[in-house]
Amino acid sequence: MFKVTKVDHIGIAVKDLEQAKKFYTEMLGMEVQGEEVVEQQKVKVCFIPSGDSEVELLESTSPDGPIAKFIEKNGEGIQHIALRVDNIENALADLKAKGVRLIDETPRYGAGGASIAFVHPKATGGILLELSERK
Ligand code: ZN
Repeated sequence: MFKVTKVDHIGIAVKDLEQAKKFYTEMLGMEVQGEEVVEQQKVKVCFIPSGDSEVELLESTSPDGPIAKFIEKNGEGIQHIALRVDNIENALADLKAKGVRLIDETPRYGAGGASIAFVHPKATGGILLELSERK
């Protein structure tokens, strides 16, 4: 069993992280936290907390990374939505048993030390869905 506990964050693909951050900090008065490069996913990310959820900005570190490919195809914008789950192993096992198409069948490292896994947009009505568990 597992439980979805909240919208963890909204992931936004940007071409220029520094430029994108300025909108949130200077125009909206929000604070950036936890900038990090996740080599495995070829991204530089930062989180901007808002109440109980966060905005995640993602800039590609490589022209063949998933964020670069997303921007090439769709332009900048919302790339994924992340839901917090209390137990990601159970969530993945349960979804797999229900025949839900997964991108990741086992959790991988996510920015900030989360365990994350992606569910295929074909299974979710067109949204790339990230499941995220934080200890
Ligand atoms: Zn994310």
